[in-house]
Amino acid sequence: MKVYADNAATTQMSKTARDTFIEYMDNFYGNPSSLYTVGQLAKVELEKARETVASCINAKPQEIYFTSGGSEADNQAIRSAAAFGAKKGKKHIVSTAFEHHAVLHTLMKLEKEGFEVTYLDVHENGIVTPEDVKNALRDDTILVTIMFANNEIGTIQPVREIGELCREHGVWFHTDAVQAAGHVAIDVEADSIDMLSISAHKFHGPKGCGALYVKKGIPVANIIEGGAQERGKRSGTENLPAIASMAAAFKEACNNIETSSEKSAKLRDMLMKGLKEIPHSKLNGDVDSRLPGTVNFCFEGIEGESLLLLLDARGISASSGSACTSGSLDPSHVLLAIGLPHEVAHGSLRLSINENNTEEEMEYIIKSVSEVVDYLRNMSPVWDDLMTGKKDFYFE
Ligand SMILES: *Cc1c(COP(=O)(O)O)cnc(C)c1O
Repeated sequence: MKVYADNAATTQMSKTARDTFIEYMDNFYGNPSSLYTVGQLAKVELEKARETVASCINAKPQEIYFTSGGSEADNQAIRSAAAFGAKKGKKHIVSTAFEHHAVLHTLMKLEKEGFEVTYLDVHENGIVTPEDVKNALRDDTILVTIMFANNEIGTIQPVREIGELCREHGVWFHTDAVQAAGHVAIDVEADSIDMLSISAHKFHGPKGCGALYVKKGIPVANIIEGGAQERGKRSGTENLPAIASMAAAFKEACNNIETSSEKSAKLRDMLMKGLKEIPHSKLNGDVDSRLPGTVNFCFEGIEGESLLLLLDARGISASSGSACTSGSLDPSHVLLAIGLPHEVAHGSLRLSINENNTEEEMEYIIKSVSEVVDYLRNMSPVWDDLMTGKKDFYFE
């Protein structure tokens, strides 16, 4: 059996997204900046896509900027706030320790440029509290950037409370909604969100395409210089096939959000129940406030890498956390942020499914993981030490 269970890393394009992509390559190849009809027809389609994306998050079309993906949108959001903050003498930013590296590495670079960043704890359940955010705010805080849902453990943050709090204090709020978009409902008005990043390939759209929402009135700084595309804020000829395809995928995902999340959550709960039966294992992150398709488990006494390779040999594509850091032997910064010790943080498994998976596939995953964990533990010196009492178990 082949099971793709790494939808948090990327998704397969939906039929709608693929058909749209091809249609636009064939029929709308004009440059939207060209003045003749072929160009202007492409321009009309570009603006239609902008309207579609905007309507999915209750934004206005003028508030949407197309980018090359989630990473670029995160960089641009934070850079825009920082540029404005620097002018006003406000050089403090609040974030969390478990953001995506597109956010964390941008913040670390800003620290070298003289900004101060407060990285909030995310507690054991993988959730930031609005109180922690409130306590971190200062007179010179320009931005709070906290992700909507975490990409490794799938926990959903109290975005609306954080948004309201920021609005009350006159601080801008950016959220990396790459994992949430298309999977949970987003309303930038109701949630008081000032900036928000999405990426098409996380909701069955094409790779290399995303969008940044910026609330009207907030100045956007461009990080790519060149032509006047995207009202001068993001140079480069627009990738219309990808943008139209993203819009179609986003609309499809948002229209089906209730049924798809119900279906995924049912399968996800099967996984959580089945994997919990494995002795000395632990679900990472809150049970309830989580994405419909993501689970993350730790198994004591084993290495995440070996687990993944053996699951791959059985046809299961899974991950130990972030696709960006697997390959490195460092434990996940997310698992360390929720307080797991190094040796346990190494033995993690992320499974991210979607509504098209089946119950049979979940049963197959549960059986395979149990067998592989058993097999690895039998060869593990760490497991030996745990069993003979030389070391204490961390999980029951
Ligand atoms: C995947 C991901 C990104 C990066 O998006 P790309 O389009 O791949 O650049 C950023 N943030 C989160 C939370 C993600 O899951």
